[in-house]
Amino acid sequence: MAEQSEQRKIENVIIVGGGPAGYTAALYTARANLEPLVFEGFQWGGQLQNTTEVENYPGYPEGIMGPEMMTQFRAQAERFGTRFVTDDVDRLELSDGGVQKVFLGDEEHRAKTVILAMGAEPKRLGVPGEMELGGRGVSTCGVCDGAFFKGQKVLVIGGGDSAMEDSIFISKFASELKVVTRRDQFRASKIMLDRAREKDNIEFRNPLEPLEFVAGESGKLAKVRFRNVETGAEEEIETDGAFVAIGHVPKSEIVRDQVDTDEDGYIVTEAGSTRTNLGGVFAVGDVVDHTYRQAVTAAGTGCMGALDAERFLRDADVPVEAHWMPGGEPAEIATGG
Ligand code: NDP
Repeated sequence: MAEQSEQRKIENVIIVGGGPAGYTAALYTARANLEPLVFEGFQWGGQLQNTTEVENYPGYPEGIMGPEMMTQFRAQAERFGTRFVTDDVDRLELSDGGVQKVFLGDEEHRAKTVILAMGAEPKRLGVPGEMELGGRGVSTCGVCDGAFFKGQKVLVIGGGDSAMEDSIFISKFASELKVVTRRDQFRASKIMLDRAREKDNIEFRNPLEPLEFVAGESGKLAKVRFRNVETGAEEEIETDGAFVAIGHVPKSEIVRDQVDTDEDGYIVTEAGSTRTNLGGVFAVGDVVDHTYRQAVTAAGTGCMGALDAERFLRDADVPVEAHWMPGGEPAEIATGG
């Protein structure tokens, strides 16, 4: 019976997302005795689950594997009482300052605050070899993996600011770098494009459309097959690494018609805070961030979201009707593990 009333309580805070932002929000809210409930997703760990070595997270001078780092983030949040649901949220019903509802199928969870930390995912080309050779020559994160290609040949696919930024960064390590675009027009800002053009070891190739990433005998990427968009001719470029930098998609679909988002689907927060347009609903990490998209910046905004939620809970009166009504279906809450 005690267990049932525990299950029926309204949560202080539900966090949706299990990457650096979500786990940091969990750590801070757990240490504030808010007993956070985290819906970490079926594939918990976010984008770092697909990364190899992380060398740019402060505090790990020898580097750390992405999945191992996420295991540690999770364990640290769990140590202070965070509960986890290792599943994907199906639906949210958000309100402005009232009860926030989170659904797994028909199972309803209620909370006074919600921290949205669903992250973003790199856009994919959707061609053969792209996923299979991930971590074996094909990457979607120049800042993460560029340094592994010292003195090697690298391709960067894409013509926006992401591709230019990756190219400029990777050109410090690679001996030769080719930026390959499917058109001779670029979406990148002039300043970023000029900076990339100034690099001696960067060459631009177009109009080439990627067809396939091909492995060599070692099982690592050896070449990329392209089709010339104008002539139709096929061409292979030998390379040690290929970075796909064609943009990111914020994972905001489940709230897009409820909170304010920009034209690209990123959740809009008040400047200098994690507050969305709805009272009690906060957004952190890559689902908000167009620009930086690093584990450390995501963790930083996760902390901000936790502090904002804590302040909201301290200052706001939760409406009476926000409490769980007797007779409702008991919500099953999984504990960490
Ligand atoms: P963009 O949408 O600006 O550019 C995407 C690029 O990828 C385009 O060249 C596009 O080609 C190409 N592309 C898309 N799909 C394919 C495909 N299937 N095959 C081949 N090429 C493809 O995305 P970004 O991530 O570069 O930038 C997004 C936003 O983030 C921008 O507003 C940008 O300014 C900002 N940003 C800012 C940074 C900074 O200020 N430091 C750093 C990174 C991003 P096409 O043009 O033919 O569609």
